[in-house]
Amino acid sequence: AKDLGGNRFQFYTPMLDGVAFRKIQLETALRRALAKEQLLLHYQPQLDLENGRMRGVEALLRWNDPELGIIPPCEFIPLAEETGLILPLGKWVIKEACRQHIEWLKAGIGPVKIAVNVSVRQIEEEDFIQYLKQVLTDTGVSPSYLEIEITESIMQNIDQSMVILHELKAIGVELSIDDFGKGYSSLSYLKHLPIHHLKIDKSFVEDIIAHPTQGSIVKAIIAMGHSLGFSVIAEGIEEEDQFKFLAEHGCEMGQGYYFSQPLPPEGIQAFYMKMLNV
Ligand code: C2E
Ligand code: CA
Ligand code: CA
Ligand code: CA
Repeated sequence: AKDLGGNRFQFYTPMLDGVAFRKIQLETALRRALAKEQLLLHYQPQLDLENGRMRGVEALLRWNDPELGIIPPCEFIPLAEETGLILPLGKWVIKEACRQHIEWLKAGIGPVKIAVNVSVRQIEEEDFIQYLKQVLTDTGVSPSYLEIEITESIMQNIDQSMVILHELKAIGVELSIDDFGKGYSSLSYLKHLPIHHLKIDKSFVEDIIAHPTQGSIVKAIIAMGHSLGFSVIAEGIEEEDQFKFLAEHGCEMGQGYYFSQPLPPEGIQAFYMKMLNV
């Protein structure tokens, strides 16, 4: 309140519009969910496009809040990035994925390679490498069954990133550049990155058939990826035509609703058994 003299006080109500309110509400709830371990990972099968085998899964965060209901990653991940909650959240994801890998193994499933999304902010955290090594040791997961998906924004801070990426490679985990084509990848840096896979963003896959220029771009990305020594994975495959196009043009791997939605752990178990029996 501002003293305007005399007994007249003018109150300023904080400018909490709906958007700001929702953010505060979500941040509080996300902290609580993290503390209470109310978050979940679902897993989307990634297939070898040549033979249809499951080559692994991508872990995707799911949050069903007891009060707020289902909140999609596109809403809470940016918030987590903004507030720094992505750091503890990201740590939890790595640990949970490793735990699940071992649980599947014990149930006779796999070894299932798990790709986790890691934010650039997280990778730049000082103890990231050490944390990762510790989790791998504690859970007993072989590093070759863990894959890390990072976006092109890793190239913003290329000198620092290079060191970290090399350390990751030395540990033996695989690296993919996620959402490739969407950002501003500097192609001249790309060839120096110690990565294994390029992941074509689903926005390109979406229009492959309807828009021939998109098809040409996708062909070019695949060819470029191969010439740099990377294998290529496509996301967002929803239709048979898209799958066929990608397979015909040498894209090694793919994922999308055409094959399977992201599934809870039991769903992956069922998917895996079904694939073994066809
Ligand atoms: P992303 O890494 O590009 O993940 C792919 C998204 O596409 C996922 O959305 C997935 O459910 C969705 N998807 C899969 N198949 C199809 C399809 O055939 N068609 C379409 N239209 N979409 C498909 P989701 O699960 O909502 O996640 C959104 C984004 O949130 C992810 O995009 C990723 O950037 C982020 N995210 C999710 N989990 C994590 C996490 O554990 N850590 C971090 N840092 N980010 C995460
Ligand atoms: Ca991803
Ligand atoms: Ca994407
Ligand atoms: Ca992404």
